[in-house]
Amino acid sequence: MATPPPPQPELDWTPERARALGERAVGLWEELLTLLPGLPVDRGRPAAEVRAAVALDVPEQGLDDDALMRHLRELTLERSMYPGHPGFMGYISGAGTVPGAVGELLSGALNQNVGGWLLSPGASEVEAALTRWLAARFGLPEGAGGLIVGGGAFATFIGLKLARDAHGGEDVRELGVREPLAVYASTEAHVVADRAADQLGLGSRAVRRVATDAAGRLDPVALDAAIARDRAEGVRPIAVVATAGTTATGAIDPLPALAERCERDALWLHVDAAYGGPAVLADDLRPLLAGIDRADSIAVDPHKWLYTPVASGCVLVRDLRALADSFAVRASYVQQDLEATGRGVSYADLGPGFSRGFDALKVWLSLLAHGSEAYGRRISHDAALARYMGELATERPDFELAAPVGLSICCFRYVPPGWAADDPRLDDLTERLFTAIQLDGRAYCSNAVIDGRQALRACIVNFRTEAPDVERLLDVAAELGARLAADRAA
Ligand SMILES: *Cc1c(COP(=O)(O)O)cnc(C)c1O
Repeated sequence: MATPPPPQPELDWTPERARALGERAVGLWEELLTLLPGLPVDRGRPAAEVRAAVALDVPEQGLDDDALMRHLRELTLERSMYPGHPGFMGYISGAGTVPGAVGELLSGALNQNVGGWLLSPGASEVEAALTRWLAARFGLPEGAGGLIVGGGAFATFIGLKLARDAHGGEDVRELGVREPLAVYASTEAHVVADRAADQLGLGSRAVRRVATDAAGRLDPVALDAAIARDRAEGVRPIAVVATAGTTATGAIDPLPALAERCERDALWLHVDAAYGGPAVLADDLRPLLAGIDRADSIAVDPHKWLYTPVASGCVLVRDLRALADSFAVRASYVQQDLEATGRGVSYADLGPGFSRGFDALKVWLSLLAHGSEAYGRRISHDAALARYMGELATERPDFELAAPVGLSICCFRYVPPGWAADDPRLDDLTERLFTAIQLDGRAYCSNAVIDGRQALRACIVNFRTEAPDVERLLDVAAELGARLAADRAA
């Protein structure tokens, strides 16, 4: 006789228990938001110390809620750094929207698998509506759409996979790459293009780095020359990666000229707007991205300038069928009868993943809660703050502007009194200064290398940053910079 195993419900918490822990976590979140402006942006603690504090042994007996909360508190208030702090202006990491955090909680609670429509009916339709809406903001036509991915790296990988499959030779998906292919991107384009070419079997050297003008924008004449050189050598050009908002300085490649070139030669145009894309929501910035509507694919990162929690990247395509063509596979275990069930499109058929989370929810909820107009106003404000910072750096005798302000990025240098702007010691000072600022905790910036020279770099994708925070970053830089310069002289 078969004996049923007895019930084993201990992993299933009651709704009351779920609420008890959830409410305490929400309380901790409220505390974080309250304390945030007074916390250091970063505590600059070494890895060994952080590890000792957070790397618990997984216990054989589960921790009670008090012990769990002690651990979460330590992690939250002592062992994290805060991209949502008003003083955070480093790298390109959005502040993290409040509704987005609620979306994270609920997407976990719902646990939809957005690889299959049948496993995520509402979630799949939300992701489709969100990506259609984003595509329309860029002026892509009916039939455009896309998917939420882990970030700009994945989005550009997918964009270049579509390019390879469209232009990389007959049956390239089945037979692989059989002839040398080339992709063109500027010297200022993000390294994710090289990584994508490597992963796609093109080799990272297939990405030809094309010169830029003095403002960091891809030079179309140099592009023509690079394409001609490759053709003469029997290399097949397949795509141009245009950058709309370079990572270092926020420069925007000449999109209309590049679109023209791609249309003329049947090249795939992928626009890496991972950072700059959301500028289309701001009335004053939108014209800077003119021509992006002619892209075949676009990378845009909601977790940068839509401020949503990491990870939320997005790839948009002019024609959704390109994704279906590029990722179609036959798997017997996911067969289904769409006609009989009325089910919609499964995202596993449109991209590299099978099981996928509901990362669209945090983006969707943020847009629904704030609305596109408030978003546009804040994005515009971020850029105005960067321009203000550029003016301060120009006016103050102890600073210089290192590049034109692009979108919401300001690159600058601290020049100690008595030093010439071209003093060879400035590079070393600047490099040590950005690290000193990061470890100090009162403000936060990162660095950029511009024409071979180090610069401090502030990128404002932070709806909590205001003019006094920008002023404080300069004051802290001047204070710590003067100290470093004095140490050098001593
Ligand atoms: C940030 C960035 C990337 C990489 O995006 P992730 O989201 O970090 O993967 C690619 N391109 C540009 C222009 C970027 O600014």
